[in-house]
Order: sequence, then C-alpha cells, then structure tokens
Amino acid sequence: MNFDLTNILRPHILTLTPYASARDEYEGTEGIFMDANENPIGSITPQPYNRYPDPYQVAIKQKLAAIRQVRTDQIFLGNGSDEAIDLLIRATCTPRQDEIILLPPTYGMYEVSASINDVPLVKVPLTPDFGVDLPAVLEAVEAHPRAKLIFFCSPNNPTGNRLRDEDILRVLDVFPGLVVVDEAYIDFAQGPGFVSRLEAYPNLVVLQTFSKAWGLASLRLGMAFASPALIAILNKLKPPYNINGVTQQLVGESLDNLTSVEKMVGEILRQRDGLRGQLAELPVVRHVYPSDANFLLVKVQDARAVYHFLVNRKIIVRDRSNVKLCEGCLRISVGTAEENRQLLAALREFGAASA
Ligand code: PMP
Repeated sequence: MNFDLTNILRPHILTLTPYASARDEYEGTEGIFMDANENPIGSITPQPYNRYPDPYQVAIKQKLAAIRQVRTDQIFLGNGSDEAIDLLIRATCTPRQDEIILLPPTYGMYEVSASINDVPLVKVPLTPDFGVDLPAVLEAVEAHPRAKLIFFCSPNNPTGNRLRDEDILRVLDVFPGLVVVDEAYIDFAQGPGFVSRLEAYPNLVVLQTFSKAWGLASLRLGMAFASPALIAILNKLKPPYNINGVTQQLVGESLDNLTSVEKMVGEILRQRDGLRGQLAELPVVRHVYPSDANFLLVKVQDARAVYHFLVNRKIIVRDRSNVKLCEGCLRISVGTAEENRQLLAALREFGAASA
C-alpha cells in the first residue's frame, strides 16, 4: 500500500501557518531575554519559574530517542497521551464527514475525543475473548473509505489483554489511514511493542505514557511516536508550551533512572499475579481475565453490589458492568501488597455477608 499523509490530513491543516512563539524565533539559552513578556525579576515561588519552557522539549526527546531507539523527529510529547489522541483526530478528521474505527470495549477517551470533534465512529467489537475480529475489521476498512484513524489499544483497557501483533500488522498493510497503537500499558507486557516498526509503516502511530509504569500520572506527559512528517504536523497544532517546565525537568531526571522503573514494574507484576490467584479463589469471583497490564478485569457475582460494598469501605475500583462484553465486571488496578490485602479481605467479608 502506498501511504500518502497528504491524503489523510485535513486540507486546511496542510497549509496552516502555526503560531511562532518567542522561543521559536531565538533558540539560545544565554542573553538578555526581552522577547516573551516574562517577569524579569523572578517568581513568587522559591524556585524560579518565570521563563517559558522549551516548546519542543529537546532535552527529554534526546534521552527518550536513545532509550526507545528512534530519532528525536519521530517523537511528539503531549499533555498526557490524551492530548495526542485529540490532536490526531483534529489533524485528520473533518467533522461529520470523516470517520474513526474503534474496537470496543476499549479506552473511553477515543470516543469522547471523537464526539468533541463531531467525528462519527465505526465500531467493530472485539470477540468475546477480547481479540480483534479481523474479518469484521477488514470489512469495515473496505466499507468506510472515509475512515482516517483506527485505534488499537494493546494491552487493552479495560480488558487487560494484549492484542495479536499479526492482526494489527494486517490492518497496517491495508488501511489507508493512520493506525494508532495505544501502548499505555506496554511496560507491563512481555515482548517488544510497535515502536520498532515505525520505519516499515509510515501510517503507524504508537502512543505511550509516563502515567503508568513511570508513576508520573500527575505530571501529565504522553508520547506519540510516528513518521517525522506526522510529528511535524502535531507540533504545528499543539499549544506552544504544552509541556510545562516542572514536568520537563522531572521527567528529564527520571529518564536517567530506568532501573527504578524496572523495579517498580517488577513489584507491580508480582502483586498482579498474586492478586489474580487469590481473587480467583474467592466465591464472589466468577472469573479473573488474564492481564498484560497493571490492572485486572474481574467478573463477580452482582458487580454493582460489590462495587458499593467496596466504596463503603473506601476501596474504589472501576465498575465496568455496563460496558458491552464486560457485563458483571469490575476493573481493579493493582495496589500495593497492603492495599491488595485489604481489597481481598473486603471481598471475603462481602462473600460472608451475602452467603
Ligand atoms: N491510553 C490508555 C489506554 C489509557 O488507559 C490512558 C489512561 N487511563 C491513557 C491513554 C491516557 O494516559 P495519559 O493521558 O495519562 O498519558
């Protein structure tokens, strides 16, 4: 397939003149800066925050490029990967004309962002065991020539499983739009993700985030890896200083500390596997689905009642029982050893009270 980005972008985006910030026009770091209407005296905080941050986050991208084995021009950084999801839709989908293919049950923001942008959805549900229904996806691709984006979430939220690489590759081969592979939970899964396939597929976008394995959800930093041509477009659309200076500094330091991330991931995986085994033994639990992520999808007897019982004990899980194919299910993020112990104790208590 001959992929041409210019066929995918909205026509006015192709010709858009982006905002040129003061920091775009002069890139040096030393001098007397009288170009950005900042406060020259300092900040009201003990640390100085009076200067605008690097609009292109070069220091982070250089470290990240080495870690993920890509070039810096293949990386976009967003205010969470949620910002990248919205920008991808705005760059490609003309409201009420173009379409987005989704594979529910999946991460809710794809649908919300599409709705905000007034872009209709084509939904191709996963199979009952949460795999890609490949014939149905290929049929949808064929039947919807105005589909500009397809989202694969792998490992998938809320089901927890990784999708088969072969299925995604098949779609990459035939879909004329952008194939977005959301790897928010990839650090908890085995084997490599899709970043190494960027050179082979100009229509591939891989999303990752610092919110999960890195433990930096509050700093709001998400990554999109894609062709330099698409990254340049996302940079044209983003607000000039979308990643604040504190985040840039702290993430920059964190990128030198990969072993701590690996240790945390190892502990979370140990806790996940222990929790999975113990949940499976509870009478209230009907099924614990396998997980390649940092959460478990758990089918229980009377999910609403279990949810409220837990909330009363100040244990908050996600009720997914109204989601198609997840009927009767709660999504439970893996906690610390002590949090998991308390969750299991509360579920035993529920079982005893309802016996
Ligand atoms: N993708 C998936 C699959 C998610 O579950 C989440 C967060 N729950 C995100 C993206 C967004 O992550 P963030 O905006 O924090 O980077």
